[in-house]
Amino acid sequence: MASQTTQTIPILLYHSISDSASEEFLPYSLSPAMFEQHMAYLHTENFSPMTVSQFVIARNQGQLPDKPVVVTFDDGLRDFYTYALPVLQRYQIPATMYVVAGYVGKTSLWLQPEGEGDRPMMTWAQLKEIAAAGIEIGAHTMSHPQLDVVSQHAASEEIHESKKRLEAGLSLPVTSLAYPHGYHSGAIIRFAQDAGFTSACAVKNAMSVPDDDLFALARVTIFNDCDVDHLADILVGKDVPVTWQNETVKTKIWRMVRRLKQGRSPIPLALTGLVLTLPLFENLAGS
Ligand SMILES: [Zn+2]
Repeated sequence: MASQTTQTIPILLYHSISDSASEEFLPYSLSPAMFEQHMAYLHTENFSPMTVSQFVIARNQGQLPDKPVVVTFDDGLRDFYTYALPVLQRYQIPATMYVVAGYVGKTSLWLQPEGEGDRPMMTWAQLKEIAAAGIEIGAHTMSHPQLDVVSQHAASEEIHESKKRLEAGLSLPVTSLAYPHGYHSGAIIRFAQDAGFTSACAVKNAMSVPDDDLFALARVTIFNDCDVDHLADILVGKDVPVTWQNETVKTKIWRMVRRLKQGRSPIPLALTGLVLTLPLFENLAGS
């Protein structure tokens, strides 16, 4: 058993495993060949892969294994079924897939602005098959909104309904949630708790720690240029910050800017200057 006091846990976040993508979506699309190399590395280096819920249980019991790693995927794209599942099975790596519940069996309509609205999503039959193969299915809302800038009613509905829809479609409990883009707030966390989730993933691009907020677990986005050397660095936390416990001022400002862009800010005039500095905050965004 590893020391719990200093241990940091990499929770990896993948999106699409495919060879082609629009320019805007390309950062979130890793080639199948590189994904295979990533999983082979976890296997040969004797990492202990877990699903998010397995990780949460082990963490709560103070029994994290040596070299823990959590592999997660957001969105529920069909290329997971085609390219990632066979690799995960070959190396016996459990993982968690967060599915946009409103688009199962359809296409990634929320990615239309990135020119990727027609990427196929997994079907219910495929989701059942991956669940039977040891992949945990988590919820990723109904339609992939920025939960912290839509109305609270809409955010609550998106969260509650996605759990219900997935559980009905799969006849399985769905206990973990991932916030689209990682965006969350205190109110959003309470909606997740009210809906009955037992954990939720944010993004943060930071290492998780044993006392990380169970409803805002830090993950590290794996981008398309991540080769095995870079993955090796991420796994040991090299150049990756350790998650923060409290929301930073920077995150709050970034949310205000996004609300302003969507016309929901109560104090738009006070923020006008911030829009000019928007690029400074873009690196807080995930997908
Ligand atoms: Zn997503």
